[in-house]
Amino acid sequence: MRSIGKLMRSISREPGAERAHLKIGVLALHGAVIEHIATLRSIGVEGVPVRLPEDLEGLSGLIIPGGESTTMRKLSARWGLREPIMDLARSGAPILGTCAGMIVLAKEIAGGEEPVFPLLDVTVERNAFGRQLDSFEMDLSVPILGDRPVHAIFIRAPIIERVGAGVEVLARLPDKRVVAVRQRNVIALSFHPELAGETRIHRLVVTMATEYAEPAEGSVAGAAPWSAGGAA
Ligand code: GLN
Repeated sequence: MRSIGKLMRSISREPGAERAHLKIGVLALHGAVIEHIATLRSIGVEGVPVRLPEDLEGLSGLIIPGGESTTMRKLSARWGLREPIMDLARSGAPILGTCAGMIVLAKEIAGGEEPVFPLLDVTVERNAFGRQLDSFEMDLSVPILGDRPVHAIFIRAPIIERVGAGVEVLARLPDKRVVAVRQRNVIALSFHPELAGETRIHRLVVTMATEYAEPAEGSVAGAAPWSAGGAA
């Protein structure tokens, strides 16, 4: 399996034209949709709003934005998106959830709400920062993205309370609480990189999407290295 570091280096060498055909969906039921599409555009990749199952056709990855997870839960059920999104994830395509996107990807939501796209073996707590710290910003170390910290914007953000086996912790707050994780092809962040001009997370998703769309020589056709051992 190629390391994330190697993949990051290989994508930075690739001319934009080589990945111009890649399409990454942004779930457009609610929330910070435009900001993710703009961030993708800024790195030369087309972001496609996803409202209906047919919008998922031909996508090599999906971003689930921040917003209100309860609204996303209702609308994704109403528009029949749940199984098709689970299938896309199971096929190995990268899925990124930010903030409410993290909540809807969790297998368990504290308080017993029904999971929405149960792909990540974690327990999340919604609105974990109470009223005084409702929203805040900080520079956060995310080692897989390099030495430069990520400027992380937290807005009524969730926290990860429990991390299951096979889930890699990507970032913690100074008090050690977990705010970014990856399980195979699924990445989830408590914060909003797309509101801070941060592009490295999106570049990582594009790198993973490239591997998914064009498996490297030696890998099993159609199976991204992220899905080794079975997709999420
Ligand atoms: N508080 C929201 C929820 O629980 C998430 C907030 C966000 O996505 N910025 O769904």
